[in-house]
Amino acid sequence: MTHRTVIVGTGIAGVSAAAALRSAGYEGAIDLIGDDPELPYRRPPVSKEIIRGDKTADEIRIKKAEWFEAQDVTLLTGQRVLSIDTAARALRLGPDEGVLYDHLLLATGGRARSPWDASGVRTLRGLADVPRLHGEMAAGTRIVVVGAGLIGSEIAASARELGCEVTLLETAPLPLPRLLPARLGEMYVDLHKHAGTELHTGVLVSSITDADGETVVRAIDGRTWSAPVVVVAVGMEPNVELAAEAGLEIATPADGGGIVVDALGRTSAPGVFAAGDVANQPNGVLGGRHRVEHWQGAQNHGTAVGKVMAGGEDPFVEVPWCWSDQYGSTLQVTGWPEASHEMVVRGSLDDRDFTAYLLDDDVIRGAVSIGRPREIRTARAWIAAQERLADVLEDEV
Ligand SMILES: Cc1cc2nc3c(=O)[nH]c(=O)nc-3n(C[C@H](O)[C@H](O)[C@H](O)COP(=O)(O)OP(=O)(O)OC[C@H]3O[C@@H](n4cnc5c(N)ncnc54)[C@H](O)[C@@H]3O)c2cc1C
Repeated sequence: MTHRTVIVGTGIAGVSAAAALRSAGYEGAIDLIGDDPELPYRRPPVSKEIIRGDKTADEIRIKKAEWFEAQDVTLLTGQRVLSIDTAARALRLGPDEGVLYDHLLLATGGRARSPWDASGVRTLRGLADVPRLHGEMAAGTRIVVVGAGLIGSEIAASARELGCEVTLLETAPLPLPRLLPARLGEMYVDLHKHAGTELHTGVLVSSITDADGETVVRAIDGRTWSAPVVVVAVGMEPNVELAAEAGLEIATPADGGGIVVDALGRTSAPGVFAAGDVANQPNGVLGGRHRVEHWQGAQNHGTAVGKVMAGGEDPFVEVPWCWSDQYGSTLQVTGWPEASHEMVVRGSLDDRDFTAYLLDDDVIRGAVSIGRPREIRTARAWIAAQERLADVLEDEV
């Protein structure tokens, strides 16, 4: 009988796993099933080129349609998987429709979090969100963005580039609070200001409501902002329901949430794996566990788990790395930067040409860079090796 691997989720983790299975010589059947109706696409351009209208959906496909055929991967888009029976190794797609599997990969990613449902509230996670929002981002329109994390900051920058009047609200004292130490967050305050985005920090939103054709954001201290449209970018919620209902172990929100996997991507159920944004995985460098929400991490994790499903035994160990494009400059962040870390800067913050190393007791735990891709690559290797900055810089000179 043919061996069958079913992958749920047609994002980068799911597609990379399918590709890795075939590259590793797996000859069984592969079903790649996702509820997104689109041919798989790259998400990062959605808050950048796509929302600005600089690229079309067809320019951001992960693979061309022919690739799935050539690799003998059965792609089922627009199809939600309703439940899993781990004892019977079966998935339910509809009332009378099911699929049996030998191996199952859950690459179900996440959805945009939105605690508010006023009619002018928008979120941005995928291509389906784009047409309406893009139409609402015409030059001269007012727009409020809630959340100055990676995606909110990019949406604000894209909206400014389209000529919108942008107000960006953030609860933390500085933008990109989960990624950047304070001095670098301050640089982003200047960047928004210089571009004409009105940034307010320390804003704890208490409600978003409809009033007189506007959408009104109210902060806990009584301040209000209104615009026809409010984009809420306050993080993502991992799609764990399918796994939770099947009895798989799920991490608590305090531990990062997501489906608990080991270093090989195995969940608590036999034959069931998880990869990408949804996976709560061991941190192979620092110990403990983490859940990473970055493109390259999801891609490499999908590839690694695909190889394991094909019979490999290599644990997945990776130092996180991500980038963000705002107002024409590309920020790169690697490792696990924390506010308490000491920061040593190479280059010039004023010229936005630098690498900042984040140190914990002299050991490099993170690095942030603009304009220095080679240095960030090197820093990533140093973080993996838990090097002390003084030692490696000495070696470099
Ligand atoms: C707008 C945006 C911009 C970003 N920009 C950057 C960036 O600049 N740099 C960076 O490093 N990262 C960026 N990211 C993050 C990066 O895109 C993600 O880390 C990555 O796409 C995660 O891939 P994934 O395959 O794990 O999950 P996803 O891409 O979320 O794919 C999971 C898929 O599974 C589907 N699914 C869930 N449940 C079911 C079910 N029951 N049945 C069927 N299908 C299901 C989901 O609908 C989804 O289509 C960005 C993310 C967004 C949203």
